[in-house]
Amino acid sequence: MKKVNVLIIASIFGLIALSIIQGYLINNTYKLKKDAFISETRKSVSKIDDFSPALDSLTDFWRENFLEKLADYKIGNAKKNDVINGLEFVIDSINEIYRKEYQKELVKKNIPYGIKFHKKVKAIVILDSIQNDTLFDTSKAQKQIVIGDTIDKDSAIRISNTSWETDHTSNRVINNINKEVTFYLLFLTEDEIDIAGWKNIVLKQMLSLLLFSLLIFAFVIGLLYYSIKSLITQKKIADIKTDFVNNITHELKTPLATLTLATKMLKNDEVKQQPQFIDNTVNTIERQNKRLQKLIDQVLNNSLGYREIKLHKENVVIENYINTVLDDFELSINAENIIINRQFSGKTKTINLDKFYFTTALLNILENAVKYSGSTLVIDCKINVKNALKISIKDNGIGISDKDQKQIFEKFFRAGNKEIHDVKGLGLGLYYTNQIIKAHQGHIKLDSKVGKGSTFILTIPFN
Ligand code: ADP
Repeated sequence: MKKVNVLIIASIFGLIALSIIQGYLINNTYKLKKDAFISETRKSVSKIDDFSPALDSLTDFWRENFLEKLADYKIGNAKKNDVINGLEFVIDSINEIYRKEYQKELVKKNIPYGIKFHKKVKAIVILDSIQNDTLFDTSKAQKQIVIGDTIDKDSAIRISNTSWETDHTSNRVINNINKEVTFYLLFLTEDEIDIAGWKNIVLKQMLSLLLFSLLIFAFVIGLLYYSIKSLITQKKIADIKTDFVNNITHELKTPLATLTLATKMLKNDEVKQQPQFIDNTVNTIERQNKRLQKLIDQVLNNSLGYREIKLHKENVVIENYINTVLDDFELSINAENIIINRQFSGKTKTINLDKFYFTTALLNILENAVKYSGSTLVIDCKINVKNALKISIKDNGIGISDKDQKQIFEKFFRAGNKEIHDVKGLGLGLYYTNQIIKAHQGHIKLDSKVGKGSTFILTIPFN
């Protein structure tokens, strides 16, 4: 059992390691597929705004407007805030059309999934050889300026950085004098997209791989389960067989020892002179011989399966038949501290059964009740003859644990308890009883609690 446990633990560890590796590989594949998908999408949407005349003219419109606001700022006619607010205002005014035009371009490109796009302003700087003047810096700003769709920060996928650099000159009238205002502008933006349901799209691409690995995994687990289960069964069978060999050796030892002694005695010259002694010894040999024969018969016959049992059924009057079996049993056990209660309910009926086999089945249960009893034993036999013959045999013996109850009708099984093993037996009685009842199309139910006794309920249909 230790080996099996080690094997189970090793297999579980192996499986865990395999799952981790599998998980790691799947995760890597997911990442690769995701990157490939995103870069493909990035390729198909990049420069959309540059190649669309409508988007281009909208861009020109807000840029012109913005440059004029900047010229005002340069001559001190507007503050930084006014410039930024003005930029937001002009973007707001064209944003709806900008988004629609962008979506039109996407349709033209035949992109089968929904894409949101925006241009996020990162920095606006007026470059100067003495000192640059930063008008906007997204990392310091409290708000964002975007042209296009609103995209959630977590689902935004960056596709490119763009920079707009321009050397601009505007005419302004200052104190009735026409003046040229010149400045050098650096306008940095970042293009971001959001692909609707991209996770599902990537997972769909991986579906066959996922299914296949799941299938392999289930297969390996199934195989492992099956191997360990058959290993445990084999081990159990091997244990049961060893037990049986030990039991039968134990059973054979006493008659063989007696036979050896008896033959020795018969060889003794003194004994040879006394016919009375010879008679006794021969009787002993005969008895032991019978005992050995009975043991062998028990192993041979009691190993039969219910399909091999050939029944010779006859009609018996239930009450009379059961009473006879119990009377004979009482006589054979010859014990004073055994009480047998008999209860019959329902009308007395007849039933078709094989008397020989059925008696063996009943005696096996009754004998066990005596064998595995406490100091006094009460056997309650209840015979219910309503729809089926129901015989329940209840003892107040040592009882059978829940675990053992599951195996009690198996061939060679004996409850693994030292106290019980002092009682002789081969573990065939209940197996055979069950086979006999099955051959009669009936079934046995066991109700037992350790220390509280056992009840065997036999049910045989009337037919
Ligand atoms: P055997 O009595 O030869 O060992 P059986 O097949 O008749 O074989 O019984 C199998 C095992 O079931 C017994 O070894 C015993 O441990 C347990 N057993 C059977 N009947 C009873 C009972 N009435 N009370 C307690 N234990 C029982």
